[in-house]
Amino acid sequence: MSQPQLARPEPEIPPARPVLADDPPRFLLLEREVEIEYRPQMLAALQSKVDAFAATVRGTAPVCPQCGHPMRCQDTREISWQARSGRLHAAVSRYRCPPCRCECRPLLDLLGVEPGRISGALARLLALLATVAPYPLAARLAWLLLGVTISPMGIWRVAQRLGEAAAHHADALSRYHADSRSIGAPTQTAPSTVVLGVDGCSLGMQVRSNRRHRKAGEKLPPLPPVEEGRFREVKTGVLLLPSERVEPSPGRRSVVRRFLVTCLGDADAIFARLYAQLRELGWVGAHTVVVIVGDGAEWIWNRASMFVHRCEILDFWHALEHAWEFAQLRYGQGSAQADRWVHEIAEDLRTGKVQEVIARLKRVRPKTPELRESLQALIHYYSENAGRMRYDEYLRLGYGIGSGAVESAHKQVVHARFRQAGMRWSEAGARRLLALRLLLLNDNWSMLDRLRMVSLA
Ligand SMILES: [Zn+2]
Repeated sequence: MSQPQLARPEPEIPPARPVLADDPPRFLLLEREVEIEYRPQMLAALQSKVDAFAATVRGTAPVCPQCGHPMRCQDTREISWQARSGRLHAAVSRYRCPPCRCECRPLLDLLGVEPGRISGALARLLALLATVAPYPLAARLAWLLLGVTISPMGIWRVAQRLGEAAAHHADALSRYHADSRSIGAPTQTAPSTVVLGVDGCSLGMQVRSNRRHRKAGEKLPPLPPVEEGRFREVKTGVLLLPSERVEPSPGRRSVVRRFLVTCLGDADAIFARLYAQLRELGWVGAHTVVVIVGDGAEWIWNRASMFVHRCEILDFWHALEHAWEFAQLRYGQGSAQADRWVHEIAEDLRTGKVQEVIARLKRVRPKTPELRESLQALIHYYSENAGRMRYDEYLRLGYGIGSGAVESAHKQVVHARFRQAGMRWSEAGARRLLALRLLLLNDNWSMLDRLRMVSLA
């Protein structure tokens, strides 16, 4: 291949090729040396602690969870599992209750490990990598960060087992709080106002419902092409306190805390999640006003009625978008006149003059049927939502007028991990990974320590 033509003439002395140092810095080498030297010692130390723990459990027959009788020892087998420092072993006894036919392996339950599988801290760390990066990249990070060789499929498996545990917990919590007898956090210190918002988008789903299984020596059939329209709605809900909104620099608003919920599902499902989270936080007391910010989609307002004290706000930017549509039709795209016209409407809406704006729109005499239709739609939209457009009041009360926080949260939960090029999700895979991602973004990752990994075939 010929060299590309350079814009400037080359200097007379040819440039030197950039060089790398012969060796990494000495300190880096020392660190790695110690790691290699002590990893086997860590494994040995861990193994001896496991042995000591196993000794304390040995010989005590568990009680049958169904009939309450002591269970009988069936057999004892050597079992191993994978941890960060290497493979660990233990002799594990299986107990059985003959009449009830239930079986258990108490040592495995107490250790919280699964035979043959990645367990403990390594499992959590690998799931964490899968939560932030696509599986092949997560596998590479596992090597770079943890010195662990694992395939993308291996990462996928760990993420499924922990993700199922997290998703199951979130589902159960949502079902629990849907019952009127559930107990929420105390509400004596409930805030006077809570802001709630919901956003959604669609996820590309896999066409096949089952994973393909390969038999020895057999070639897998090719995947069917992705059909058009195979999408599922995924929704994110956000809860925050207006009192915790801060403005670190002029015009740059952010919130100190926010709680996110998410689900692959319908409007009722996301509101059940939001409600459960509010109950867990103790954020809705007898006098709390729930501020609901929406884009005008009817399903949000329909569910909002579940809150006795509420304030519904139509997102300011959505309100303006509708004005833009008409303005561009009337004055032409990108025209300064359209700009001015919308700016005026924005100013009036912001100061609470929605009725004046509607009256003004009604005096406009459109020249074409298309314009007339667009104007009627705008008037209808503003009239329908006028009660949700008292922006001067919302600003005075500190409620905010936009759904920016919700939209950015949704992008962080979903887009950043689930909507990369060519990604297709299974229902279960998306549900599990969403649950893990939520733990991370809600700063609740340590909850995984207290969830039992779900054994999946
Ligand atoms: Zn029994």
